[in-house]
Amino acid sequence: MAEFLTTTGTSFHIENIILRAKRKLILVSPYLQLSKTFFERLKDANFRGVEIKILYGKNELQNNEKELLASLEKLEIHYFDNLHAKCYFNESEMVITSMNMYEFSEKNNREMGVYITRDKDKELFENAVNETLSILHSSEKRDLQKVEKEVYSSNNHKDKWADENNDSQGFCIRCGDQIEFNPDRPYCWDCYNVWRQYENEEFLEQVCHKCGKPENSSMAKPQCYECFKEFVSF
Ligand SMILES: [Zn+2]
Ligand SMILES: [Zn+2]
Repeated sequence: MAEFLTTTGTSFHIENIILRAKRKLILVSPYLQLSKTFFERLKDANFRGVEIKILYGKNELQNNEKELLASLEKLEIHYFDNLHAKCYFNESEMVITSMNMYEFSEKNNREMGVYITRDKDKELFENAVNETLSILHSSEKRDLQKVEKEVYSSNNHKDKWADENNDSQGFCIRCGDQIEFNPDRPYCWDCYNVWRQYENEEFLEQVCHKCGKPENSSMAKPQCYECFKEFVSF
């Protein structure tokens, strides 16, 4: 059963959601500010191999915050302009609340929230996950991993193009040829070389990288919504 939370309970459960995350962690908060405690919790989760996604929207991150976040290789940051929802969850528990992420260690604001678990409130949990994934799909992924990007663009050798660790099947989002599935590299070698002359991440292509169906796609969003949902599924 859902549990009603005030300020203290909300902070407590948000912290636990980060601490107990085993595989997935999604934090949705329009205002994002990196406190020391918050960063340390994220760092621990990253170290445990948890895939972390943060969706924020109102303020831009400071450069030093971006640098810190870039050091967490399991973390993805997404930006959505009209974000107002706040919701925090891992694979089994969730808090939907008025509280922004940076306030979780503050005790002065009066907040409310609801704590639910996937076991006991399955439908509610899944509805909130689906809505979050839908916002995530419309959001812009912010590139913190400059290093990774450089590897991508300075990769001049065709044989290095294929990712040895990835054996699943994908499609070039431009020509539809079969390639390896890797959302960071959704073009075949030839199409990539054409694309890189402009490097327009939003340029609209016609094929979903995952299912190969005719769907709008781009470097920034290589998969159709159905495949994206499955890809990030809980
Ligand atoms: Zn191609
Ligand atoms: Zn698809």
